[in-house]
Amino acid sequence: MTIDFKNLSAAEWREKLSPERFHILREKGTERAFTGQYDKNYAAGEYTCAGCGEKLFTNDEKYNSGCGWPAFVAPAEGAAVDEHRDTSFGMVRTEVTCGNCGGHLGHVFPDGPRDRGGMRYCINSASLDFTPEGGGAAGASE
Ligand SMILES: [Zn+2]
Repeated sequence: MTIDFKNLSAAEWREKLSPERFHILREKGTERAFTGQYDKNYAAGEYTCAGCGEKLFTNDEKYNSGCGWPAFVAPAEGAAVDEHRDTSFGMVRTEVTCGNCGGHLGHVFPDGPRDRGGMRYCINSASLDFTPEGGGAAGASE
């Protein structure tokens, strides 16, 4: 039986996620800069959605932007990542969400490395789980 992540209620998400993850993924929160657990992680491996487990990014796309959040030049090949125009807080930005569950991941800005496409996907660590390459499943972490 597969879970229809797009139709989970807020109460069901609250049961699945920690309060911090619920706030960021489901209420479009943002973790404080330089506090996320994956900001400085450059190990080889895969980043999946903390809400539904969808593969979103890999270390191949990650780079050190210095912005205080994990930054990627692009989603992983074939990853289901959606982009939406976001005009909240008086700014015009592009919000990035998980295409599988609709969870908020972060924003994408056109100030990434020019030689790698020029985009910066600025993603909350709390929206992601990381699985080191070759390490097998990291286990169902809370
Ligand atoms: Zn998801």
